[in-house]
Amino acid sequence: YQEKIRMLAALLKSPGPNFALTGAGVSTESGIPDFRSPGTGLWTKYDPMQVASLSSLRRDPAAFYAVNLPRWQTFEGVQPNDAHLSLARLEKHGYLVGVITQNIDSLHRIAGSRRVWEVHGHLRTCHCMDCERSYPFRELTERAAARGLPRCAACNGVLRPDVVLFEDQMSDDFYKATRALTGCQLLLVAGSSLQVYPAAGLPQYARRVVIINREETPWDEQAVLVIHASTGRVFRDLLAEMNVPEN
Ligand code: NAD
Ligand code: ZN
Repeated sequence: YQEKIRMLAALLKSPGPNFALTGAGVSTESGIPDFRSPGTGLWTKYDPMQVASLSSLRRDPAAFYAVNLPRWQTFEGVQPNDAHLSLARLEKHGYLVGVITQNIDSLHRIAGSRRVWEVHGHLRTCHCMDCERSYPFRELTERAAARGLPRCAACNGVLRPDVVLFEDQMSDDFYKATRALTGCQLLLVAGSSLQVYPAAGLPQYARRVVIINREETPWDEQAVLVIHASTGRVFRDLLAEMNVPEN
């Protein structure tokens, strides 16, 4: 294990540009369940197409919010862990250009990462599905609590968060991330099962790929380095090995 940490440190110190690509696994140590971990992952309880697709929201918004709103509300007040904090420090000290994330929990921004591409959107804002007017996400939770369904103050349409659901178009950030990866020397993939396309295809734009994940991923065979361990531990050990300053 320690030999792999040394190899990763050396890879990050060689000429970039280097990027990170993160998934739900970097946030499990902050207390947010991922989707595909055996036993605890959300998809062991629900079928994604039934609860996280655009058609499910359109067909039965009440059922969509009954499943998703309680889950999203647990994201409030959650704190970044050593994986998020380490990625912010690596960016600050020039080892990473930034973080491309599939997560909607804002924890990379809260941890201090400056360049973040949120390819599946985020839960800071929402918009009306009819008139497209934009609101802070808080409006959605407050209106849902008061009236059952979160509705637009202007036209009474149903509000939805600015996240990418199954069957939605990808976000602008996804296309920006694809372009930003041009010339990428090293992509550090952390805490993603790499099963959800098109985000799972992003490693193809990097010259070299490193995988940090508890379980195997479809990219393990092509990766120059694979570490099957918890992301919090790996990043703590990596920053110690690299002697990256605290600030
Ligand atoms: P995923 O659930 O498919 O895969 C997570 C992977 O992380 C699993 O392979 C698991 O073994 C691994 N893992 C879990 N905890 C880990 C840890 N502490 N250290 C190392 N590995 C760990 O998640 P995904 O690949 O991000 O794809 C699922 C989709 O779900 C994403 O598109 C994302 O938008 C969404 N999602 C987001 C959040 C969030 O914002 N925090 C939470 C759940 C799901
Ligand atoms: Zn409206």
